[in-house]
Amino acid sequence: MKLRFGLQAKFLLAMAAVMLVVLTLFALVWQRQQAMQREVVTLGREAMHSLVFERVRDRGETSVAQLADALANPLYYFDLDAIGTIVRNAMRQPDVSYVLVFDPQGRILHDGSGDIPTYGQPMSDAFAFEAIAARAPYAQVSDEMVDVAAPIMLGDQRLGGVRVGYSLASVRADGERASEDMRARLDEIGRRHLAVLALLSTGLLALGLGVVWLVQRELVRPIRLLADAAREIESGNFDTDTPASTRQDEVGDLVRAFGRMSHSVARHDRDIRRMAYNDALTGLSNRLAFRESLDRTLLELRGAGRQLALLFADIDDFKRVNDTLGHDAGDDVLVQFAARIRETVERIGGPDALLARFGGDEFVILLQGPPQGDVRAAASHLAETLVAELSRPIVVHDRQVFLGTSIGITLFPEDASSSTMLMKNGDIAMYQAKVAGKNCYRFYSRAMDQAVERRVRMEQDLRGAWDRGELSLAYQPVYRLSDGALVGAEALLRWRHPEHGMIAPSVFIDVAEQSGLIEVLGPQALRAACEDAIRWRRDYPRAHELFVSVNVSPRQLRNTDLPKLVQGCLRETGLPADCLHLELTETAVIGDELHVRGLLAQLREAGVKVWLDDFGTGFSGLSHLRRVPVDGVKIDRSFIADVLRDPDDLALTTAIIAMAHSLGITVIAEGVEKEGQYAILRERGCDLAQGYWLGHPINAQDFQMLLG
Ligand code: C2E
Ligand code: MG
Ligand code: MG
Repeated sequence: MKLRFGLQAKFLLAMAAVMLVVLTLFALVWQRQQAMQREVVTLGREAMHSLVFERVRDRGETSVAQLADALANPLYYFDLDAIGTIVRNAMRQPDVSYVLVFDPQGRILHDGSGDIPTYGQPMSDAFAFEAIAARAPYAQVSDEMVDVAAPIMLGDQRLGGVRVGYSLASVRADGERASEDMRARLDEIGRRHLAVLALLSTGLLALGLGVVWLVQRELVRPIRLLADAAREIESGNFDTDTPASTRQDEVGDLVRAFGRMSHSVARHDRDIRRMAYNDALTGLSNRLAFRESLDRTLLELRGAGRQLALLFADIDDFKRVNDTLGHDAGDDVLVQFAARIRETVERIGGPDALLARFGGDEFVILLQGPPQGDVRAAASHLAETLVAELSRPIVVHDRQVFLGTSIGITLFPEDASSSTMLMKNGDIAMYQAKVAGKNCYRFYSRAMDQAVERRVRMEQDLRGAWDRGELSLAYQPVYRLSDGALVGAEALLRWRHPEHGMIAPSVFIDVAEQSGLIEVLGPQALRAACEDAIRWRRDYPRAHELFVSVNVSPRQLRNTDLPKLVQGCLRETGLPADCLHLELTETAVIGDELHVRGLLAQLREAGVKVWLDDFGTGFSGLSHLRRVPVDGVKIDRSFIADVLRDPDDLALTTAIIAMAHSLGITVIAEGVEKEGQYAILRERGCDLAQGYWLGHPINAQDFQMLLG
């Protein structure tokens, strides 16, 4: 961790500086005290010295003056014995080290000894000269001695002098002792001061430490805890424990505010996560969440020898529900489907299975294979159950709706090892399940890649196919049932691929629709049909009333200006408007009702007839016919196929005819393959019919023969 000059460090440093200053002050005080102590001792000693000296001198001067008086007579008579006695007496006094009596010339007369060895000798010590010259008691001082001299007078006559040497040794020793004593006392006082100072310093130190501890506890620690929590939150760990506090001060306020803030951040994070990772409609995981889980699972399984299956389930024709029943119903279907899938996956897929909605009507399931078992078998079982479960009818807005599901399955690690490839494979397999007829499941195989490739190639090949002459129109005759007259023809696109030969419209129309190519092909087909129709009308009198009916894809209706296109074609070819019929699928018409109604009104105003193709396969029902202005309905061939066997289909067909007639709408039956069908339709009052029994789609030349 990087070292920082933090709050605590700063505070400690400031505290240390204050301590240092205080301790330095204490040390200075202590030093001053020591110096003062020494000075006091020296001064005391000096004062004592001068005091002792003065006392000794005063005492000396007095006693020497008395001695001089006492010696005056013996000296006058020169009585050496008496002098000696006096001198010896004087010498017995304390501290006297010598007593010398001398004549006016300074020669020693007596020194207190018995035989006076120095008798007659002149004095030559340092004090001698002054002593001899003294005319009054006179004291001189050296380090060891105080020498007091006084003249011995008899009247005005000077007989000589006396000198007494007082030793300072004992006095000095006393002084020393006294100053020793004083020093000891001063030391004692000093020690007491030192103790007080030490006590003060300790107290101060304790106070400093106390303040540091308090600041640490009350300020630094809470702030540090907040900073730690903030760092945790910053790194994305929103569930970290935030510090709590019951303190009623600013720090307490800060801690509580922080706690509230972190909770709200955590809540927002959870919300965002939920929004980001969950599908709002079904509550399932979404694509993002699934993708992350898949990546994580793949990483964990790498090298573990476990197998996975990815199931891509797509509701068949879900768009039809949205288009015909509205988006609310679509949402309802998705929610019900999600619940069924979830229930099935939980029952069969085991606890590790993951389910997500990939947006739209696509659900993805991640299935973990049993440790030793066969993931393929487990996936088949789940897919089979799902297909069965989801084909049960669903009730939406009080209506029973039959839907199916197509499921694509891809296996890890058999098919691919990366999540991207697995998802792509699953999608391809699902698409193949759709191609195979929907409401079933398919395992991914490499061959499917080729199918996808073929589809891409087909799209490329289809581009410009019309200009290369590969596309043409076939015409299937349409007959009036009442009199069996040929009244029109349905134009159907045909594609002869240079390599693959004839390609079914159910295959290439789908490609054109999905790629948008239909927006180019559709108008070309329309123009060609109009041109053919006007030529027949011109060339064949029987074709005077003949109409041509052209299929229009939902995409054309949505994306192009159909009325303008149609009017352009009619104008340029000269075909009367009522000879052109447009076949729209139910889903295309009902998708965006308001917009479509406007378009249809425009077309019908121009005189063009509009028919609803494949009627009955959507959910629009008969009631929709009231709201959508059309001229005819084309009953889907799936109803016609069973009209002889299934009484329900017959009833429905009959109802459609009756209902349409009550609305003044023409009814056409397509896919009439048998005479019986023709007969029954005729009997029920159906207006027109087409089908293999009446005539296959044939090329324009062959159709001309029918007219001739
Ligand atoms: P559709 O509009 O419902 O066309 C009728 C389809 O039924 C045609 O298939 C026709 O050959 C077939 N058919 C006719 N009579 C019978 C019968 O008795 N039994 C059976 N089983 N089938 C019969 P086709 O030509 O393969 O066309 C399939 C679909 O392709 C058409 O269905 C139509 O939706 C679309 N299509 C064809 N040409 C065009 C076009 O020019 N533009 C657009 N947008 N779609 C087209
Ligand atoms: Mg048609
Ligand atoms: Mg049809």
